[in-house]
Amino acid sequence: MILKPHESPSDAFTIPRGKEDFLVFGAPVIEQDEIDEVVACLKSGWLGTGPRVTRFEECFRDYKGVNHALAVNSCTAALHLSLLTIDIEPGDEVITTPLTFCATINAIIHAGAIPVLADVDPVTMNIDPVEVERRITQRTRAIIPVHFAGRPCDMTAIRQVATKNDLLIIEDCAHAIETEYRGEKAGTLGDLGCFSFYVTKNISTGEGGMVITDNEEWANRIKILALHGLSRDAWKRYSDEGYKHYYVSEAGFKYNMMDIQAALGIHQLARVETNWQKRKALWDFYQRELIDLPVTLPAEPEADTKHGYHLFTLLIDEPRSGISRDEFLEAMYEQCIGTGVHYLSMPEHPYYQQRFGWRLEAWPHAMRIGRQTVSLPFSPKLNEQDAARVVAAIRCSLSAERERPTMRRAA
Ligand SMILES: *Cc1c(COP(=O)(O)O)cnc(C)c1O
Repeated sequence: MILKPHESPSDAFTIPRGKEDFLVFGAPVIEQDEIDEVVACLKSGWLGTGPRVTRFEECFRDYKGVNHALAVNSCTAALHLSLLTIDIEPGDEVITTPLTFCATINAIIHAGAIPVLADVDPVTMNIDPVEVERRITQRTRAIIPVHFAGRPCDMTAIRQVATKNDLLIIEDCAHAIETEYRGEKAGTLGDLGCFSFYVTKNISTGEGGMVITDNEEWANRIKILALHGLSRDAWKRYSDEGYKHYYVSEAGFKYNMMDIQAALGIHQLARVETNWQKRKALWDFYQRELIDLPVTLPAEPEADTKHGYHLFTLLIDEPRSGISRDEFLEAMYEQCIGTGVHYLSMPEHPYYQQRFGWRLEAWPHAMRIGRQTVSLPFSPKLNEQDAARVVAAIRCSLSAERERPTMRRAA
C-alpha cells in the first residue's frame, strides 16, 4: 500500500517504507555504562548471583526507601514468592484486576489460590475499590492491585477495604517503578511490592524482577524460596570464603537473578528519572497532537500522584473512530509502527473461561477497554521525528481517505 500524504502541513514528510525503519514497540535504552558493566561482569567470571545482584538490591532499596529488596528473575516469580510467603493456602481467594498481564493471574494459580476478578474504573483503568469489596468472601486473603500503565490505584480506598476485611496487599508494580501516590512510593503502599525488568519495562535487565517489603520474616523466606529453598546465602557456596554445607529447608524454586542481569539494572536504575522525563515529554506531545482525533486519550494523572508513564493508550471505538481496533493495529503495522495491546480482558482467554467459568460480561469495563485499547510506542528512545511519525501514522489510519482494500475488509 502506498500511503497518501496527509493534507495537514504538520506532517509534510514521507514515511519510510523499509522494514529497517520499523519503530519497535517498547525498545529498551541500553547505554555504554550498561555495556561496560556487563563486560566487567563477564571478565570477573562471576556470572551468577553475586556482588552485582547485592549492589542492585541495595540501590533499589535506597530508591524505594524500604528495608528489604530481593532480586529475582521476573515479576512473575516476585508475585509467586510474595503469595507463598504470606502462606496462601489451597482454596484461598486473591482479588485482582481483569486488565492485567496473565502473569498476575497465573502466579495466583501457581500459589494454589483462586483468582477473583474485580472490574476496573472506566477512566483510570485501575481496579475499582467498590468492586473489590463486592467480591470479598470468607476465603479472600489478599488483593493484588496493578498500577495500570503507571497510574497509581486508589490506594486509600483499597487499604481501607483491606484493613476492614483483614486482607494483605501485594502490589503488582510491573508498570510502576517511578509511580508515587500521595507522597508514598509504589511497592510500599501495601505489604509487598513486585517489579518487572522485562525488556519493554521502564527499567530492563532483559528478564528480571524485584520484591520489596519492610517485613524481615517474609524477606528471609523469599530469599530462601528463590534459590531451591536452600539455607541462607547458599549462593556463596563456591566463593573464596571456602566451601560451606547448605541445607534444604523447603522445596523452593530457581528464581534467582544473575549478576549479568544486575549489571544492566544498576545503570538502568541510575537513569530512571532521566528516562521518566523523556516519557513525560512524549506523553505531553501525544496528548497535544492527538487531541482533535476521534479516539479516547488517557486521563491525565491525578493530583498528588506521580504517574509512571509506562504506557500511552488510545481507545479505538469503531462507530466513533471509523475503524475497528484490530484494523487500526494492522494499519499502524503497515506504516511500520509497532503497537501493543494492554490487555485483552483476562476472561477473553479460553483457559480461564474453562477453569473458572468466567464470562466476559461480568466485567464490562475491562471487556470494552480490552477490545478498544492500543498502546503507542512510548520508549524514551523515540526522538521527535519518531514521535511525529507515530502521530502521522495514527492520522492516516483514522482518515476516511485511507485505502480500505488492504485492510482485509469486505468492500
Ligand atoms: C510484565 C508484567 C508482569 C510480568 O513481568 P515479568 O517480569 O515478565 O514476569 C506482571 N504483571 C504486569 C502487569 C506486567 O505488565
